[in-house]
Amino acid sequence: MIRNFFNYLIFLFERANWLSVVDVFLVTIVFFLILYVLRDTKALVYLRGILFLIVAVSLLTSLRVLPAFSWLVSNTLPALLLAIPVVFAPEIRRGLERIGRTGSFFSREGFSTEIEKSIHAVTQAGKTLSESKEGGLVVFRRLDPLQEYVETGVVLNAEVTAELLIQIFHPKTPLHDGAVIMADDTLIAASCVLPLSSSGVLEESPERSMGLRHRAALGIAEETDAVAVVISEETGVISLAYEGNIDRYVPADELEERLAEFFTTEPSGRPLFKQVASIFQRDE
Ligand code: ATP
Ligand code: MG
Repeated sequence: MIRNFFNYLIFLFERANWLSVVDVFLVTIVFFLILYVLRDTKALVYLRGILFLIVAVSLLTSLRVLPAFSWLVSNTLPALLLAIPVVFAPEIRRGLERIGRTGSFFSREGFSTEIEKSIHAVTQAGKTLSESKEGGLVVFRRLDPLQEYVETGVVLNAEVTAELLIQIFHPKTPLHDGAVIMADDTLIAASCVLPLSSSGVLEESPERSMGLRHRAALGIAEETDAVAVVISEETGVISLAYEGNIDRYVPADELEERLAEFFTTEPSGRPLFKQVASIFQRDE
């Protein structure tokens, strides 16, 4: 058996020429790109599962001694493959949406200067809320549309001011529960429900474990490229969630600067490779 295998290898190498080197190289590149784009994403976990299934199924179906079982297994594999688009529907949709916007990779159109006004208002309101220990959660839209989250709240399309934000997050008012979503200089919606991140839930220390508001901020930063500001009701601490991370204890005077950074990075300054990769990347 092993001898056969080696003979086969030798046979393959004898037939190899420079074209087969190119061939192998191209296949390597494709796999590298897929893994690079999916690294650190949930998709990679699924992919590993699918690869495992495929290997297991092909091993099982090669057992001629179990014809009925291998028939069953080999017939369910295509059905499992059909499930991929269903499982990955949100990622595929986001990827396509980003491809549709590729223009904004090459210009600064994706980021408006009007955002500065919103950042200023949120910083002001953040300071006040933090001092008075009223909870707040504000999401800044970047390139991902966030429409599905806007729909869970109350649409306002209001011109943003610090006063409006403070009013919204005042407890015992109808809109204070949930997140505010901002885009450019507009407060799009309030009372929005965000996806909850499941990371940090199992942390032992109360210091590191997160309540729902912080998990919602982290959740939106994992699912999209949005940036979220959280003001803790319990401690007044300001946190910033972006790209799947959450920074706690952001000093109020640094908030404006920190937020502005997310909107001044020149998208055209990124290497092309990263731009292509970010098309499919789920903003971990
Ligand atoms: P805090 O430090 O302010 O107490 P926390 O992270 O401990 O924050 P909770 O005490 O659980 O969070 O905060 C609950 C509040 O978080 C809710 O009243 C609601 O306004 C908000 N919230 C909870 N879940 C979501 C969600 N899925 N989307 C948006 N906001 C949410
Ligand atoms: Mg709490």
